[in-house]
Amino acid sequence: MRNFVFLGPPGSGKGTQATRLSQKVGIRHLSTGDLLRNAVQEQTALGMQAKEYMEKGDLVPDQLLLGLLEESMNNGAMSKGTILDGFPRTVPQAESLRDMLNKNNMKVDAAVLLEVSDEEVIKRLSGRWFCTTCQRTYNYPMHAPKKEGICDDDGHELQRRRDDEEEVVRKRLHIYRERTAPIVDFYRAESILTTICGEQSPDKVFSDLLEVIQ
Ligand code: AMP
Repeated sequence: MRNFVFLGPPGSGKGTQATRLSQKVGIRHLSTGDLLRNAVQEQTALGMQAKEYMEKGDLVPDQLLLGLLEESMNNGAMSKGTILDGFPRTVPQAESLRDMLNKNNMKVDAAVLLEVSDEEVIKRLSGRWFCTTCQRTYNYPMHAPKKEGICDDDGHELQRRRDDEEEVVRKRLHIYRERTAPIVDFYRAESILTTICGEQSPDKVFSDLLEVIQ
């Protein structure tokens, strides 16, 4: 069982790279953003509460999120490990994760930071579209779908995330720098942090990532 944490600002490629790594090495990909968006879509009580935080670009409170995460971690007990994308986002969350894994005699084996500048994040997210069915993401103009507004894989319609509006992105970036970036030191102190330049081509980022994992 190996557990990896992906760190980086919104739009740094965590989701894309985690999906790719998950397919390559057979470790499941767990995105707290996806878990929460599913809960919103299914209109669960938790989803309804989380929605207002997410739309404003705020962090969802731990008392809503931690139970959901623990349940998902335990559901995959038989898997080869987990790639966590979007969690932890604060130092207390990093501590909760450590305790949660400790209970099962596990640990975070590596934390990977994808570094991307604020300007690049804003540029990327203003062109980000995703398939509401399979969640695949596209980026205009570099990685546009073959047919305007339609997913290459399943032919369903693409949408933008409401929290990708520039004003909300700026807030998410601010929260990232204030609350999430300190986790870098948390994992650096444990000597498990590796930094990768997230502004390289997706293929180069992926090959750097494979080197870290292997
Ligand atoms: P993401 O898809 O990772 O960009 O997450 C989308 C939104 O979900 C974030 O802006 C937060 O509102 C919420 N969210 C995701 N992960 C967390 C987390 N670990 N802690 C608090 N809120 C989160």
